[in-house]
Amino acid sequence: MPKHNLAIYGGKKLFKKDMVYDWPLITPAAEKIVVKQMHSSLSIYNKSGIIAEFEDMFAAIHERKYGLLTSSGTAALHSAFYALGIGPNDEVICPDYTFFATAMPLFQLGALPVLADCDRHGSLEPSEIEKLITKKTKAVAVTHMWGHPCDMSKIAAICKKNNLFLVEDCSHAHGARYNNKSVGTFGDIGIWSLQGQKIIAAGEGGILLTNNRELYDKAQLLGHFNKRAIQELDKAASYFQYAVTGTGLKYRSHPLGIAFAFTQLPHLKEWIKIKQINAKRIENIICSCPGITPLYPHSTKIINSYYAFVFLIDEDMAGFSREDLVKAVNAEGFLDLDIPKSTAPLHGFTIFQKPISPVVKYKDACIRKQFPNADFIYEHAVKVSVPVESKKGSRGDKFINDLETVWNKVIDGLNSKN
Ligand SMILES: *Cc1c(COP(=O)(O)O)cnc(C)c1O
Repeated sequence: MPKHNLAIYGGKKLFKKDMVYDWPLITPAAEKIVVKQMHSSLSIYNKSGIIAEFEDMFAAIHERKYGLLTSSGTAALHSAFYALGIGPNDEVICPDYTFFATAMPLFQLGALPVLADCDRHGSLEPSEIEKLITKKTKAVAVTHMWGHPCDMSKIAAICKKNNLFLVEDCSHAHGARYNNKSVGTFGDIGIWSLQGQKIIAAGEGGILLTNNRELYDKAQLLGHFNKRAIQELDKAASYFQYAVTGTGLKYRSHPLGIAFAFTQLPHLKEWIKIKQINAKRIENIICSCPGITPLYPHSTKIINSYYAFVFLIDEDMAGFSREDLVKAVNAEGFLDLDIPKSTAPLHGFTIFQKPISPVVKYKDACIRKQFPNADFIYEHAVKVSVPVESKKGSRGDKFINDLETVWNKVIDGLNSKN
């Protein structure tokens, strides 16, 4: 097929309608529960109603004792670091390859994120963590990027050996498992964003899980003052005297969003199962091209939640550039395939180059090494959605069929000599 058949070179576009895999699903059950919630309560002051139901179900799914909903994943991370007592002069080893929210709340606490490189698959590299440990290191934060779990047995062992707290940012990894155990349960605290694009989506929201009563209490002190703190905090603890006012912020989540997300929870397990099948199909379509490989290694130890299917392009082997490929696919009307731009290595952002905080003046640097793997992935990655339906004729099945059609057309066109 000659090049000029491609829409990008003036050929006929494959799809009239812009093709994206819409997320989240808006089901009749979600519409019903949101309306019901609207008539019941728009603000929930304590642990009750839909807030309590969501927290308890989410904690039960992950076999954790305590769940705390927050207004965002960022707020959950802030609450987690605060609960661990992380503050001025403390260092927290954070992934360089993550969404920046993983590390940002540390600046508010006066603590310093110290950036560590990932392996070739985007997962925080355990040996890099070890190289960055100093006397000031208090904790390690990990992100299970794109739903692919990090090597949690190694990372948990490093934390244990060096007496460091461990926080897991599972915002890409709802339902992902490592060694048959949910991510978010390997350290002291796990957090999940419930933002509108995430696998469990409230629009805005976040949740934190822990098995430690004191951490749960302290997280509530930061953002859940008065009725909830009075109800939930250990009355014998010295911090109970702060329950009425809390310690400064308000991080309650919105009941309408949580009600919406609540209807998704029972489907999570099934969705992750189907995503394995669909990711395999997508991989067979995309990675049959020379120079194109999936970001993730395959391992029987893990279940990837496939927040997205991410693949890397070696431009020399493929014979075309990443930008040309994505532009050509998008020009056909298939917009779902794109370059992950906002998930950029943290060392490129000013705040990590010249760290500032409202509570301390930093003397030390966030950037102490180079990040060849994070840079490599950032420069070569492309992502596409992984649907949660697989039956013939379903929305997910059609989406993958369309991906196959556009992919074959574009690869054929880009490879053609004329
Ligand atoms: C989305 C996301 C966050 C932040 O969550 P918000 O709910 O948007 O505050 C944090 N970390 C990662 C890895 C994310 O993808």
